[in-house]
Amino acid sequence: MARKVLVLGEVRDGSLRNVSFEAIAAAKTISEGGEVVGVVAGKEVSGLAEALIRYGADRAVTVEHDDLGQYTSDGFSQALLAVIESESPEGIVMGHTALGKDLAPRIAGKLNSGLISDVTSLEEAGGNLVFTRPIYSGKAFEKKIITEGLVFITIRPNNIESLQQDSGRTGETSSLSVEIKNLRTIIKDVVRKASEGVDLSEAKVIIAGGRGVKSEEGFAPLKELAEVLGGAVGASRGACDADYCDYSLQIGQTGKVVTPDLYIACGISGAIQHLAGMSNSKVIVAINKDPEANIFKVADYGIVGDLFEVLPLLTEEFKKL
Ligand code: FAD
Repeated sequence: MARKVLVLGEVRDGSLRNVSFEAIAAAKTISEGGEVVGVVAGKEVSGLAEALIRYGADRAVTVEHDDLGQYTSDGFSQALLAVIESESPEGIVMGHTALGKDLAPRIAGKLNSGLISDVTSLEEAGGNLVFTRPIYSGKAFEKKIITEGLVFITIRPNNIESLQQDSGRTGETSSLSVEIKNLRTIIKDVVRKASEGVDLSEAKVIIAGGRGVKSEEGFAPLKELAEVLGGAVGASRGACDADYCDYSLQIGQTGKVVTPDLYIACGISGAIQHLAGMSNSKVIVAINKDPEANIFKVADYGIVGDLFEVLPLLTEEFKKL
């Protein structure tokens, strides 16, 4: 059944996040030959609409308003509901990011619709669209179908491959003016901690350190390897609790959920709460002194050894490539 599907492009620091393009690829499958409409909401964002088209959207709608400069639940739900009212889509896709986790259930509630969140893959099978999502902290997967109504999903970043960018692709871009009213929260300023290098949640390569790293300085060989591989540095809660690094690096059940192409766990034992955040990574390499460490159970490649000896050797070899 051909559907019109809206995709929310997510803006950060003036650019669209990669998950926006992954959402377009998901929307293409859901649309089953129908129309994919990209949506960008914010302040001065009209220049971003074409990027959604280059990645596969058929056309794009921008909603610009001074009160959309920073994300607020109230402001963005009003903006998106206005687009939904004007477009009457049969499907909606957005990223399962901090923004999507807040906005999608709110919109679904307002529309009295269902929502499948945190989708990691989707396929057409037996005449149905089948959505797969992890449950029980990634220990199992469930497959779901939507029997009627809006096909509304959020997708986990880094799981659904975006289409190749086509710089010659064109499509109509339009703007919708909306009235944003009765905002209960207004964000005056965002003060961000200075962060180094690649964004953890979108990184293709993550070098993560645990308590085995032993100190803040102990993260130096991890940072060096991350730099050589163009990756990001992450951590276990053990390392964060020990004050070796900032909590913004924490991966796991109470930290970030990541699915990079390559995850190198250094001096991490593999507690169930840590695995909840990284076990769906495509390739897992574990470096640990203890051959019985639990992390080896989920690792594709295991190196039993001292991380301070193994990491410099790996960095040296990767530098040669
Ligand atoms: P440890 O378990 O102490 O492991 C250190 C490892 O380093 C050991 O395996 C050791 O053999 C190895 N090692 C030591 N020296 C070296 C060396 N030189 N070279 C190589 N290996 C070495 N944890 C998370 O990570 N993320 C979460 O989100 C999270 N949420 C939690 C939520 C709850 C409610 C609870 C109760 C716990 C949570 N935890 C979480 C904590 C989790 O249970 C573990 O305590 C934590 O993951 C352990 O961190 P670690 O593996 O770095 O430390």
